[in-house]
Amino acid sequence: MKKEIVTNILTGNNSAFCMVPWTHTYLSPQSERRLCCASREQASFTEQYLDSDNFNGTKDQNYAPSSLDDHWNSSQLRKTRLQMLAGDRPAECVVCQNQELSLSTYQDYFTKDLYVNLIEQAVLSTNTDGSTTMKPRSFDYRLSNQCNFKCRMCGDQLSSSWEQETRANLEHPLAPNHWMHSDLQKQMSEFQSNTAQVEFKTALERGEIDEIYWVGGEPLTWKFHWDMLNLAIKNGHAPQIFCRYNTNLSITSYNSQELFEDLLPQFKGYLIAASIDAPGEIGEYIRSGLNWEKWIENVRKVKASMDTSKNQNMYFDLTLTLPGMFALKEMVDIAQELDIEIFPKLVYAFDSTITISPLALPRHLLDPFIDDLIAYLFPRLSKNSIQLFSLLKNLKKRATHQEKYPDDYEAGFAQGRQYQKKLENLRDHPLTLDKIYAARPEILKWWQVEQ
Ligand code: SF4
Repeated sequence: MKKEIVTNILTGNNSAFCMVPWTHTYLSPQSERRLCCASREQASFTEQYLDSDNFNGTKDQNYAPSSLDDHWNSSQLRKTRLQMLAGDRPAECVVCQNQELSLSTYQDYFTKDLYVNLIEQAVLSTNTDGSTTMKPRSFDYRLSNQCNFKCRMCGDQLSSSWEQETRANLEHPLAPNHWMHSDLQKQMSEFQSNTAQVEFKTALERGEIDEIYWVGGEPLTWKFHWDMLNLAIKNGHAPQIFCRYNTNLSITSYNSQELFEDLLPQFKGYLIAASIDAPGEIGEYIRSGLNWEKWIENVRKVKASMDTSKNQNMYFDLTLTLPGMFALKEMVDIAQELDIEIFPKLVYAFDSTITISPLALPRHLLDPFIDDLIAYLFPRLSKNSIQLFSLLKNLKKRATHQEKYPDDYEAGFAQGRQYQKKLENLRDHPLTLDKIYAARPEILKWWQVEQ
């Protein structure tokens, strides 16, 4: 029976199966445990980026984070493993199943790339109740929301700069947020120091980790990140660890240690997802904190120190937003000039209030805009832009907000626009969406129309 399950997976006859529940573990800065950063569970304590639509958390809910030991063979994870082995798609995995964020899924990364050699072991190690004797070997522990940026598609849970802004402005669209209360902050900080950091460090010291996903917050601002790299080097485990980063690449050193020259070359390899959503002024508008000139200098520096034959790579992690589309042609040219691949993902549109999404545009405005971008891209197509090209083409097949949420499209649009305008007032950036959208007068007219 187990051999049949393995064969089904290896021959592509079980599209529900994913290696994550056997190998990977995720923790949010507010201590929510998840299968991975792409899964959509119900929040137990506080909402975060990709929650299930059926969020039950309330302000009064107790903060009761679980340890990794309690979580790893919890009833939820056991159930998910059994579902996957039976070929049933867990509801939490909708983002991968429907390729909602990108065409290349996280499921494929873990199952067809990183841990394909462990599939048989995963199946054989699973007991009839769904528990496994395997241990997590890939960690995505977001031990802090500390971040020096506040990108407009992000929020206070993943950025301390957003958090500061929220705290300082009673009128902030995200205020109030219960997890920011001081008693809860103290408990969260204690959990991070006394439980989460200890779990990570113990696994590292025992040589149990072979992949770390450093993402935050901004991991390069965390002392813990630098300490752990040094620890892995000191205890001799670095050569077996692959480091994956999602970073805003605003800094590359800490206490005189250079990440790309001193530390990462001692590891098995690395992959840098350098976050950028648009070049120049528009990029700086979307990603508050970005200094484009400094950023591109850092990109060139990393590129010069990278050795792809040693499994050292970097790509542009581009979140496709509506304002970002106005500088997309330039972004493609820069990627080509630097010979860096763009891996795009669509800004996640939970509902019709996400007006920063390209899908907020009505069809008659979206399609011509995409056609214009595709016409520019097509003669320049290369490995660096092919993923972006595919995503743009795919966008034309996706339902716009107007098509997907016909009943509350107008109300959602009005609410989402007000949210963006409030952010503009708070941040006081010289650029505004009105100014960006003016390059396409029909879009400016849509943006400015009163609903
Ligand atoms: S299928 Fe996707 S969402 Fe589900 S566990 Fe795997 S990577 Fe995460």
